[in-house]
Amino acid sequence: MTRYRCSACGNLTRFDVTATKTTKAFHHFTVGGELVIEDEEVLENQVHDVSCRWCGHGRSIEVIEASEPESFARSSG
Ligand SMILES: [Zn+2]
Repeated sequence: MTRYRCSACGNLTRFDVTATKTTKAFHHFTVGGELVIEDEEVLENQVHDVSCRWCGHGRSIEVIEASEPESFARSSG
């Protein structure tokens, strides 16, 4: 999981993110032609640009790699 932080104003929660996503999903049509998208899986997520929603800065964004403790349980040292 990736989080962002604006070093200009300290914002941690509001960002405009421009990204290209490649997804695979189960498109489930009803007989009436209505589409329900199920089991969407993100195959690739390419983030092009992140800007701060509060102050508009795009160059002050820090990327924080949030570590999930459970997925790092493989090596206990
Ligand atoms: Zn900001």
